Amino acid sequence: MSQVQDAIQKKCPCGSGKPFQFCCEPIVTGQKSAPTAEALMRSRYTAFAMGAIDYLINTTAPEKRGEDDAEILADQVKYTNWTGLKIIDKAQGGRDDQEGMVEFEAEFETDDQTGTLYEKSNFRRENEHWVYVDGDVELRTS
Ligand SMILES: [Zn+2]
Repeated sequence: MSQVQDAIQKKCPCGSGKPFQFCCEPIVTGQKSAPTAEALMRSRYTAFAMGAIDYLINTTAPEKRGEDDAEILADQVKYTNWTGLKIIDKAQGGRDDQEGMVEFEAEFETDDQTGTLYEKSNFRRENEHWVYVDGDVELRTS
């Protein structure tokens, strides 16, 4: 298989089933902004999987950013391997909405455990760009 075909067929980490280059890649690399809250959520999952820390900070609501975010995120992406994303439900978050909610489950593994992060995330539009505000998180490990 040629490298070009390889790139085209590489599926996006977010589990959409779409090729990476037509799904989260242009969003995480800043070529386009996420059109919906779900697209932003998926792109943030992909950024976690790839270790795109700047993108994660830039897509967090300004008042929710902390001074230590870069360090905390660097640790998280170093020790956590994200292995799957499932969108459970969503509300609003569409092209004409200002706020949105996405409910999801993300599978992960670390050196010594596997687990599921369940979260209901809240998003809002900030200067025409979707940002992550906060969420109800439940962590299940085994
Ligand atoms: Zn994607």
